Amino acid sequence: MNLNLETEAIIFDIQGFSVHDGPGSRTLVFFKGCPLRCYWCCNPESWTTQPQLLYRRNKCVKCYRCVEHACAKGAISITNPGEYITINREICKECHDVSCAAECYHDALKQVGKKYTLDELMHKIERDRRFWSGRGGVTVGGGEMMTQYRFVANFLAACHESHIHTAVETTGYAPWANYELVLKNVDWAFVDLKHMNSDKHKEGTGVRNELILENIAQIAKMSLEGNLRFIVRMPVIPNFNADDENVLATAQYLKTIGVTEVNCLPFHRLGASKYEQLDRVYACEDMPSPPDSLLKHIQQLFESEGITCYRSSDTPF
Ligand code: SF4
Ligand code: SF4
Repeated sequence: MNLNLETEAIIFDIQGFSVHDGPGSRTLVFFKGCPLRCYWCCNPESWTTQPQLLYRRNKCVKCYRCVEHACAKGAISITNPGEYITINREICKECHDVSCAAECYHDALKQVGKKYTLDELMHKIERDRRFWSGRGGVTVGGGEMMTQYRFVANFLAACHESHIHTAVETTGYAPWANYELVLKNVDWAFVDLKHMNSDKHKEGTGVRNELILENIAQIAKMSLEGNLRFIVRMPVIPNFNADDENVLATAQYLKTIGVTEVNCLPFHRLGASKYEQLDRVYACEDMPSPPDSLLKHIQQLFESEGITCYRSSDTPF
């Protein structure tokens, strides 16, 4: 899909009334596209920048209307009567209109990812203004919102012009010049730090961590200069980054760059059904969430190093 990168973007969700991603009540805007492939990701529908098709078998009544009418490219078929439809995802990969979704009257086929212009997005979020109270506002996340950084920068500038408090959530994986553009109009920044060992980081996420560490240091510096509030977030993934060695290395790193707070977020499986809806395999199908005792232990380790650690939604806002 061709976009004007300054004024158009693909967004996969907009949620009001969030109290976990910045101060007050907030509207979350999720941008599609991400350069990382964290194996525990709970938003697999965010990975590509293009709109995609979800197939929700629990809503499918096997009427087969879609087989006959929905896809001019022949991507939908049935093998045997009475079975669920089959979607040829190789064909869908090249499809950007996802026109089939409108043909399913039972909502079993759903388009995820929709184009918004800047004006459309501003209009949409403005409807929530009365729920933000004095402290709330808008939080931009993804996916990785930096994949659409030109639009995001313009959107955040428009928010500030309209006196809307702004926050961003990011993987930290983008060129610093792009962050400079975006952060001009950000009040709060949440940046993930997933592993201190770069080889391990690449194993778990698909990318090395050097760029992320450099960006975190730069954002920490901005924060110390008083330009924005900055919180590092560490997803707690059992058997990946939750060992003492990595937690202590993270604490040491944060201390060297002057960061005194971290928010630990336990792994959860809430995104599992979306893998099925995209015909993808979920690597964490059988992985339990970390027990509270592990989170408390990690908190103690951080605090023994002088870093305030907020567990889960127990945050300073
Ligand atoms: S996806 Fe929708 S249109 Fe296709 S068979 Fe199921 S209910 Fe019918
Ligand atoms: S997403 Fe596109 S290619 Fe895939 S079934 Fe729908 S219309 Fe056909």
